[in-house]
Amino acid sequence: MFDSVFEIIYVIGFVLGSVIRKLYVRGYRQDKIADDRENWFDKLLLVIVSLGFIAAPWVYLFTGWPAFADYQLPSWAGWIGAAIFAGALVLLWRSHVDLGLNWSPKMQIRDEHTLVTKGVYKYMRHPMYSAHLLWAIAQVLLLQNWIAGPAFLVTSVPLYMFRMPVEERMMLDRFGEEYKLYMSRTGRMFPRFWG
Ligand code: SAH
Repeated sequence: MFDSVFEIIYVIGFVLGSVIRKLYVRGYRQDKIADDRENWFDKLLLVIVSLGFIAAPWVYLFTGWPAFADYQLPSWAGWIGAAIFAGALVLLWRSHVDLGLNWSPKMQIRDEHTLVTKGVYKYMRHPMYSAHLLWAIAQVLLLQNWIAGPAFLVTSVPLYMFRMPVEERMMLDRFGEEYKLYMSRTGRMFPRFWG
């Protein structure tokens, strides 16, 4: 358990990420659900992601399994992973602050839902998913094992590829022109530096 400084950094990052969730998800809107795009496929992808996000790294950290799949990167790569993890946590924190009560673990819109276009949402439409992507890249660099390292990245990319268009369709149906305009000036997961 914890046989490199990078594994310890990963654990610290994971704990900090959980604290951010706990502190900033004070709840979400409880009023009437106006639109619900949740389906079985999304739920299935979420279960698969939790294997890559929680199960694979923690089994590896506590048991060292599967040791045959270990790899070793130069230490600068681990430090880059630590920096990326820090960036992921800052973005996760800011997006929770900016989205506030409009956050939801499910693809749902409530009656009182408002469109957020400020803060980090000014630059991209899915900063929370970007934060998860950065976290997943950091995991590859910090947990140097072919199973535990890429597990979050490999499992989360299909979820976001599937989710983003469905979520954007839902937002378009609710906010119409306002969201269309918002889409035209923002990037999906990364700030748009052109146009
Ligand atoms: N995809 C966003 C939000 C994830 S939370 C991100 O990555 O940051 C998921 C919920 O956020 C969805 O149910 C959706 O209704 C809501 N949502 C997404 N973008 C929003 C926005 N710009 N303003 C308000 N709510 C938004």
